[in-house]
Parts: sequence; structure tokens; C-alpha cells
Amino acid sequence: MNATAPIRQSGGFTRATVAFFGFGLLGAFMLLFRYDPAGQPFYPLCVFHLATGLNCPGCGALRSLHQLFHGQLVAALRCNAPLILSLPPLAFFSARAFARRLAGRPWPRPVVRPAWIVVLVGVLLLFGILRNLPFPPFIYLSPP
Ligand SMILES: [Zn+2]
Repeated sequence: MNATAPIRQSGGFTRATVAFFGFGLLGAFMLLFRYDPAGQPFYPLCVFHLATGLNCPGCGALRSLHQLFHGQLVAALRCNAPLILSLPPLAFFSARAFARRLAGRPWPRPVVRPAWIVVLVGVLLLFGILRNLPFPPFIYLSPP
């Protein structure tokens, strides 16, 4: 075996991989549409919230998606605003990637710049701190 041989790089996701994750995501969304996370015991609980009583940046995400699926945009924003606000750009980039793939070109390689990660972590940390402050207007960042 040649130790200097180049590592074969994948040309992208296979159709089976895309179908697997697509159907999995669709099933999860159907479950979220049908059953409200606020009243069902089978949804996962937030370990950070259980341990501290505080809301992490992800608290309320499932409830937020449930509200969004039922057309309740304000309630969805109230549960987890950063999640809802991140959906339009995520949908745009996903649609662009699928359009590119349908045009016969390979899946685009994700480009994540280190500065974006720093900004994202900073925004989530700030959101996580602000949503736990017990006075207006920050109480509206905490899920009801
Ligand atoms: Zn949480």
C-alpha cells in the first residue's frame, strides 16, 4: 500500500444519504406538527435547564417549530427567536444548493469562515444570557 497515495475524496452526498436525512427530517417535522412539545413527555428535555433552571440558547426550539408549523409566527418567535430568524437564510442556501445539484453540478462544499463561528457563538451566548434576565424586555426572550 502506498502511504503517499492521495485520499479519495467524495464527490458529495449520495442519493441514499440525502433520502435518508430528508425522510428523517420530514418524519421529525410531522411529529412536531402533530404533537405539541409543551404537553408531550416523549420529547427530550434540556439537560442545562434541568440542572440549572436557566434557559439555554436552544430552549424552546421544538416548541418554536411546532408554533411555526401551525402558522403562529409571533408565538414561534417568542419561544426561540434566533432559530426562527435563522430559517430564511438556511432555506435560501439549501434551495440554492438543491438548484445547483438539479442543474447537474456537484453539491457545494460548505464554506464556514472562522469569523462566522465566532459571531454565531457570540450571538448565542449573548442570547443565552439575555433571555435569563428577569426583567423587561428580556423576559420576552424566555420561552413561555
Ligand atoms: Zn435548553
